[in-house]
Amino acid sequence: MSLFLVDSHCHLDFPDFDGERADLITRAKDNGVQRFVTISTFVSKIERLLAITREFDEVYASVGTHPHNAGEEPDVTVAQLVELSTRDKIVAIGEAGLDYHYDKAPRDVQAKVFRTHIAAARETQLPLVIHAREADEDMIAILEEESGKGAFPFILHCFSSGRALAEAGVALGGYVSFSGILTFKNSADIRAIAADVPMERLLVETDAPYLAPPPHRGKRNEPAFTRLTAEVLAEVKGVDLDTIARRTSDNFFRLFKRIEDPRTAG
Ligand SMILES: [Zn+2]
Ligand SMILES: [Zn+2]
Repeated sequence: MSLFLVDSHCHLDFPDFDGERADLITRAKDNGVQRFVTISTFVSKIERLLAITREFDEVYASVGTHPHNAGEEPDVTVAQLVELSTRDKIVAIGEAGLDYHYDKAPRDVQAKVFRTHIAAARETQLPLVIHAREADEDMIAILEEESGKGAFPFILHCFSSGRALAEAGVALGGYVSFSGILTFKNSADIRAIAADVPMERLLVETDAPYLAPPPHRGKRNEPAFTRLTAEVLAEVKGVDLDTIARRTSDNFFRLFKRIEDPRTAG
């Protein structure tokens, strides 16, 4: 089969892509990017995401409150998330987590909302998409404490944290997803961490419209560029692009259980 990559994390609902979504999907497929998960940042805006998933067969969605928006949705409940997770094409919970770089919501509110999402992931056993930035210690503490109450599948998305968080995540059964950050010149530390993440726990993503890899750095990112990150990840792991595509897609379909793996059909 030809190249099969998955953009496990993008934001196709953002206005950056208005009027261009069909072209975007076509360009992505031309680059071997065949499936997409458009990630929720506001539970209250879930209908917009669902509309996009209905428009494009290859696009799936998550449901959750981004830590930046935790102050606006502080009272989201486990029941609400679990109920919304039953909607057609919802395949994950999140993104939720801790962002101490921007501190857009009070840290205690971020933590409370994050724990709500963990409980929903535990109950549904859908993968939790975790956003962690400059919050390594608290993130490790919460993941270890909450895992002790009962396991839940999770992804450390757009990994840009320290080695200790990657190791703790892997030890707890989590996956680590790399974005365009992996390809940046000054990201040698992130590449060194990626080199040590077990092959069976790796994912790739764009986080588009943010974080375009070179030669597009500073411009709008789009799902087609997943391939550029996968190429660098292949180099880091000392394998070819086909192998990275196959392994990260294997991981993706193992984790995102609700999505059928078309590679195995026939
Ligand atoms: Zn994020
Ligand atoms: Zn995101």
